[in-house]
Amino acid sequence: MNEEVEASLLVIVLDTNPGQRLVRERTHILTQCLESVIAFANSHLMLKSTNKLAVLACHTRSTEFLFPPPSACGTQVAMLRQQDGQYELFTHVEKTIRQNLQQLVIRDARSGPIGSVCESLLAGALAMALCYIHRLEQELSAGRKMNSRILVVTGSADSASQYMSYMNVFFTAQKQNVTLDVCSLDRDMGLLQQGCDITGGLYLRIPQLQGLLQYLLWVFLPEPTIRKQLVLPPPVKVDYRAACFCHRELIDIGYVCSVCLSIFCKFSPICTTCHTVFKTPGPLPTKSKKKKIKLS
Ligand SMILES: [Zn+2]
Ligand SMILES: [Zn+2]
Repeated sequence: MNEEVEASLLVIVLDTNPGQRLVRERTHILTQCLESVIAFANSHLMLKSTNKLAVLACHTRSTEFLFPPPSACGTQVAMLRQQDGQYELFTHVEKTIRQNLQQLVIRDARSGPIGSVCESLLAGALAMALCYIHRLEQELSAGRKMNSRILVVTGSADSASQYMSYMNVFFTAQKQNVTLDVCSLDRDMGLLQQGCDITGGLYLRIPQLQGLLQYLLWVFLPEPTIRKQLVLPPPVKVDYRAACFCHRELIDIGYVCSVCLSIFCKFSPICTTCHTVFKTPGPLPTKSKKKKIKLS
């Protein structure tokens, strides 16, 4: 069974949004994260020669591929000269990621300030990662198999405004057999926890940022298939609340459209998603009152 698994694709989604609380407080954090992620990415490539890698930067306005570079092909690796005895591919990965991120940051700074909105577009980045995975799987020659997974490294908080996109991405990933892992650097992320739970991935909010590389190597480097044999941090209790479609706020109890399953926090006679018209419900049954009367 294991012999036919040829390659393992790891797609890292790195949140490079300068609006993250951690980065705003100390800018060098981003450099530190980048270094850890590069070392982690190279470790993944080191495990097997057939292993594949992609790194995406999720920025304020856009998500871009840092590796492999969108324009170039594999020829550049051969042109690189060995430095300090480092394997050429690793040098190539490191240089490409740094260069592309630098260009992205410069481009972003040139296009002016973004105003108060500083939410990372993680759902979009995940969708891009899934598209990339899908393309590579289509290109595989017959008889070959590829295990794919996505790792999100972020210091942002997830917001319910992307709720629908998140859910679409999570269930697509589940259908495509893609595992979603999340390494949170700062805050607990309820929605991404749901994604990890749905796709069978790991969620970890790291207790110490200094140890980022260690956490990445110990927790996220082993492939999902061998994780059962390892002692990893216990799974978190997932908050499965949904966000209402009207205000994008997490709710405990709400109204669900019986036709399209949209969720609302307040009753509305017309579903805003599918435009189904509902009968106005009568006054709610007053059970508690009756009980009180009987008791007295
Ligand atoms: Zn609402
Ligand atoms: Zn509806």
